[in-house]
Amino acid sequence: MSRGRASSVRVRSVGVKRLVAVVSALAVVAAGCGSPGAPVDPAPVGSVEQPKPANAGPAQVDVEGAAAEDCNATASLPPQGGIPSGSTMDEIRERGYLVAGVDQNTFLFGFRNPTTGTLEGFDIDMAKAVAKAIFGDPGKIRFRAVTSAQRIPALTAGDVDIVVRTMTINCERLKEINFSSVYYVAGQRILVDENSDVRTLADLEGQKVCASKGSTSLKNIAKAERKPIPIQVDDWSDCLVMMQQGQVEAISTDDTILAGMAQQDPTTKIVGERFTEEPYGIGIPKEDKDMVRFVNAVLEDVRGGEWQKSYDRWLAGPLGSAQPPAAKYK
Ligand code: GLU
Repeated sequence: MSRGRASSVRVRSVGVKRLVAVVSALAVVAAGCGSPGAPVDPAPVGSVEQPKPANAGPAQVDVEGAAAEDCNATASLPPQGGIPSGSTMDEIRERGYLVAGVDQNTFLFGFRNPTTGTLEGFDIDMAKAVAKAIFGDPGKIRFRAVTSAQRIPALTAGDVDIVVRTMTINCERLKEINFSSVYYVAGQRILVDENSDVRTLADLEGQKVCASKGSTSLKNIAKAERKPIPIQVDDWSDCLVMMQQGQVEAISTDDTILAGMAQQDPTTKIVGERFTEEPYGIGIPKEDKDMVRFVNAVLEDVRGGEWQKSYDRWLAGPLGSAQPPAAKYK
């Protein structure tokens, strides 16, 4: 503030006439610098390092284990509605609101509507359905924005009751947290500039490909046989900015997330086939088994109507029509 005020005082003291004289003198100097048709390079821009989103950089990814495991990951605990006293749901009800870890940077799934400032999207609708089942009011919810990498720590630390954030169910994650039944099945693909010839990850050998830290997507990029250079960021929107600035060649993650980016930036396109399967589940702390059953009962209900309503609102346009995936239980 004080800086702005100081400089405006200085401008005023220079005097309007003198300012005009200085500006026209500069114009004359500039005009004399180059002949028409020979543009002047005003600064050696190539030597300046481009600004990057916070924490963006080459990824060190542990690609061992996980993928080879088979733990029947998508079979969850059978549903059980109702809120017995002393249960996890009862404690949440006592508190007065559900705490849900969500994304605020993924268009269509969890994003901040710039005109209203509220969080919206398919995942936000799923989270609200859980609040509605506990309180009879979907508004009794507090959202915590978490990055891909913060999802599991937020659950294990007890900072959130649930995580609804494009989260793939897998054996590795099941060692630390629980998952609901599957509420959507996505698959990894690639987003590139509309003029790019890239079709597969193999076409990106030796080139920079962006994904968020802590995502399955980043591991899949790092595991590719003809190695791209995995670049990690905190938020998916950072990947889009980096691609727009030419700092990465491509983004590779779930087709759902890419569909949102392709809508945000129509000069991009999604290419190639799905090369993974990413079943989404609601993340729940390991010890809250009653909550897993309760959420599964909510999802049973949601599959009967709300799911379609939300899907058609957010996803049917970019992803085509779909029906809720059938639940599997242990
Ligand atoms: N579904 C993937 C995952 O859970 C990528 C999406 C994300 O990180 O937001 O890791």
